[in-house]
Amino acid sequence: MTAYERSRVLLRFADLVEKHNDEISALESWNNGKPFEQAAKAEVPMLARLFRYYAGWADKIHGLTVPADGNYHVQTLHEPIGVAGQIIPWNFPLLMFAWKVGPALACGNTIVLKTAEQTPLTALYVGRLLLEAGLPPGVLNIVSGFGPTAGAALASHMDVDKLAFTGSTNTGKIVLELAARSNLKPVTLELGGKSPFIVCEDADIDHAVELAHFALFFNQGQCCCAGSRTFVHESVYDEFTEKAKARALNRIVGDPFKKGVEQGPQIDSEQFKKILKYIKSGVESNATLECGGERFGSKGYFIQPTVFSNVQDDMLIAQEEIFGPVQTILKFKEIDEVIRRANASKYGLAAGVFTKNIDTANTLTRALRAGTVWVNCFDVFDAAIPFGGYKMSGIGREKGIYSLSNYLQVKAVVTALKKPAWL
Ligand code: NAD
Repeated sequence: MTAYERSRVLLRFADLVEKHNDEISALESWNNGKPFEQAAKAEVPMLARLFRYYAGWADKIHGLTVPADGNYHVQTLHEPIGVAGQIIPWNFPLLMFAWKVGPALACGNTIVLKTAEQTPLTALYVGRLLLEAGLPPGVLNIVSGFGPTAGAALASHMDVDKLAFTGSTNTGKIVLELAARSNLKPVTLELGGKSPFIVCEDADIDHAVELAHFALFFNQGQCCCAGSRTFVHESVYDEFTEKAKARALNRIVGDPFKKGVEQGPQIDSEQFKKILKYIKSGVESNATLECGGERFGSKGYFIQPTVFSNVQDDMLIAQEEIFGPVQTILKFKEIDEVIRRANASKYGLAAGVFTKNIDTANTLTRALRAGTVWVNCFDVFDAAIPFGGYKMSGIGREKGIYSLSNYLQVKAVVTALKKPAWL
C-alpha cells in the first residue's frame, strides 16, 4: 500500500471511531470499569486524534541524501521494521492501542498486538473498524491472551522484528530478556512510576489541590504517571492537606455509567487486595490516615478515596507503585531538598511542579529526572507530545515524532558514480 493510501485508511478509521463513540465508550467502561464519561469525552476523542496525527506522518516519512565522498551517491531509505509485536496493559486499553498501532501502521509495518487478559474487548472492536476503514486483513493481528504464554511467545519469536511493551517494570525486564535471548529484536518499554507532584510555597493552592487530586485519583489511581508522591512546602502543608482531604471526601464513587461519577471500581480482585494491603501498611507505619482507607460499599472492587499525610520517604506507600486511589502527602522545606528526595526513586516517568516563580520552575524542570515535567498542570497529553521514562520507568519514547524511529529501519545505499559530473 502506498504511504498516501495508508494515511487515508488511518483518517477513515478516525472518522469511524468518532461515529461509534457511544459503543466504544460503553465497551471500554465494561472492559475496565472506568466512568463512561471519561471514555467518551477524553479517551475515544484521543484515539481519533492519535490516528489523525499519525495519518499526517504516513506520507512524510523519507530518507536523506548524504554528502559523502564525491565518487559515491549516498542515500538513506527509511523502511518499515517488519512485524511489530506489541503488548499492552489494562489501565488504558484504547489509548495504549493507539500509541502502539498508530505509528506502526503509519510507518508501514504489520502488527501482532496482545491485549491485557483483563481487557480484551475494545481492541477487538476498533480492530474491526480498521478493517472497515480499508486496512487489508492480516496487517493488524490482535491476540487476546495471557502474559506468560501469548505475551512471552511474542517477545521471544524469531519472526517478530520489534517489540513494544507497556506494563510493569518486572514484566518489562522479562520481555527484554526474552527478546535478547531470541533474535535481539529492539525493545521499547513504558513501565511503572512513582511520580513527584511538587507544591511550592508560592503556588496557587486551590489549583494545586485540585490538580494533585486529579493527578492521583484519575482512572481510579491506575495511571503509570500518577502524581503519587505529593510533596508540599511546609508553609502551606496544613492548608493543602485539609483541602486535599475535603476534595477526596467529595469524590463521587459508584456506577461508571451514572452521570457525574468520577471513580469506578478497580480492575480486578488482585489489584483491589493489593491496594488495601498498601493502605494497611501506611497505617502500620504511622502515616496519618486523613480519610478513606476501606472498601467502598459492600460489593464490587470499589475503594474509598484515601488520603495519607505525614508520609515519610522510607515508607512503603511512598516508595512503591500503589496503582489505586491513595494519595500520599509529604512535607518539604528547601528546593534542593525536594529535588534530592523527588529523584530518590528507581522510577523516573513524570513530575508535576506548582510555583509562580519562573526561576524555581526552571530549576526544577531541569533537575528532575523524569520523562515529562508538567508545570502548573498535570496529565496534559497530546498525540504530538512524547512520553516515556528515565531510569526503571522505561526505554525509549512513544507518541510524537519520536515514535516513528521505533518502527523504522534505516538503510544506507551507496552507489558508485562512474563519471561524477562535478569533479
Ligand atoms: P503487567 O506487566 O502485569 O502486564 C502488562 C502486559 O504484559 C499484559 O498484556 C500482560 O498480559 C503482559 N505480560 C505479563 N506477563 C508477561 C510475560 N511473562 N511475558 C510477556 N508478557 C507478559 O502489568 P499490568 O499490571 O497489566 O499493568 C500495570 C503496570 O503497567 C503498572 O506498573 C503501570 O505503571 C504500567 N503502565 C505503564 C505505562 C507507561 O506508559 N509507562 C502505561 C500504563 C501502565
